[in-house]
Amino acid sequence: MTSIKKNHVVNCINYANEKKLFDRLNDIYKNLPNGDCSGCGNCCMESVGTNLIEFINIYNYLENKPELKKMCLDKIVDYYFLEYIEKKPCPFKDKYNRCMIYDVRPLNCRLFGHWKKEDYNKNLDNVTQRNREYRDLIKSRYGFDISDKVVNYRINYCESFIPEHKYLSKSQRLEFADSLMTLDSNIYAKGIIDIDFKDRGIVEYFIESLLHEDTAYNIKIRVSKDDKVRNRAINRLKKILY
Ligand code: SF4
Ligand code: SF4
Repeated sequence: MTSIKKNHVVNCINYANEKKLFDRLNDIYKNLPNGDCSGCGNCCMESVGTNLIEFINIYNYLENKPELKKMCLDKIVDYYFLEYIEKKPCPFKDKYNRCMIYDVRPLNCRLFGHWKKEDYNKNLDNVTQRNREYRDLIKSRYGFDISDKVVNYRINYCESFIPEHKYLSKSQRLEFADSLMTLDSNIYAKGIIDIDFKDRGIVEYFIESLLHEDTAYNIKIRVSKDDKVRNRAINRLKKILY
């Protein structure tokens, strides 16, 4: 049993094609401001928050690329199950620091350099605070520590990106995010995918397409607590999941 069933994703892809939702998604991406980016990949250091329509788009992109898909899924599994031990780079970044899904990369990647510095650092402080609260919750519930490196992990503000015009305000960034939510709503309203409506990173979407959410989380807790079973369990999962 999976949280995101394969036939549901296929139905979503067909529906998105029929209703031209992918075209509308690409129009939103095309209307984003440009900027001068060196492409160093220093910002591609964690899983990014993603909308449902973007997950469907990336899933569709990988469907006809079996080798790339397997390479990405291997990294996604490592990222998810080892997340409390070490923070790995975004699983879609290759060894040359390039994005392996560049054409379909999510909105958050496209907007990264456009944040105002004060907004970016404020958001980062909030994330770190939430991470610390989550570490305490995990400690009290399961009796182990999420590593300090993971809890305090920060991708620094990019000083070298130069926006084409001005940095975007929060409301401008949210306007783009709202446009994606409208596309998501089209899919949710159709009732063709049966998942909770909540924030997910691209890694969580893919993991839920492989394993039931609760099962995945229980395994993650187990391998985080016990380093003796860790590698064996993760390698076994890779053999049976895809
Ligand atoms: S936004 Fe900044 S950190 Fe990211 S690739 Fe461009 S120059 Fe590098
Ligand atoms: S999806 Fe691509 S652009 Fe976005 S963080 Fe990952 S590697 Fe970077």
